[in-house]
Amino acid sequence: MTKRTKVKQRTFKRKFNPRLIRNNTSYSVSDIMKLFNVGQNTVRNWIKTGLKVSDDKIPTMIHCEELRSFLNLKQSAKKKSCNQDEMFCFSCRNPRKIRANVVILINKNDKILHLKGRCESCESFMTRKYSASKMEEIQHFFTLSVNYQLNT
Ligand SMILES: [Zn+2]
Repeated sequence: MTKRTKVKQRTFKRKFNPRLIRNNTSYSVSDIMKLFNVGQNTVRNWIKTGLKVSDDKIPTMIHCEELRSFLNLKQSAKKKSCNQDEMFCFSCRNPRKIRANVVILINKNDKILHLKGRCESCESFMTRKYSASKMEEIQHFFTLSVNYQLNT
């Protein structure tokens, strides 16, 4: 009854090779989408969770060094293990608890739950993917916010 399947995080996490990033180059969001074959939402999400943009101008440009250090940090974040009720904060560079334990559901399908919350220490947004099978378990320590949207 309580058969719990252990799903390794990396089964649904992707690797990005920072070596693809050229020196002395600034990238637009669409450049990064092409470079790593990711969607716009992924890049926007990186920006929200710590990827520094060059300035407030449009189009948004990201310097190669910022992109490289963000991805390296993101990659190493996978090795720093978070507790179930923590997410990795790119500002604090450490696993952090979620402010008020309130999370917003970014995305959900039959494999993953993608959640967003604010860092308890610095209030930056953090995101984390959980196995969809953890939905019930997660609700023991997180409150899904009213913005909660299910796209089932
Ligand atoms: Zn933080």
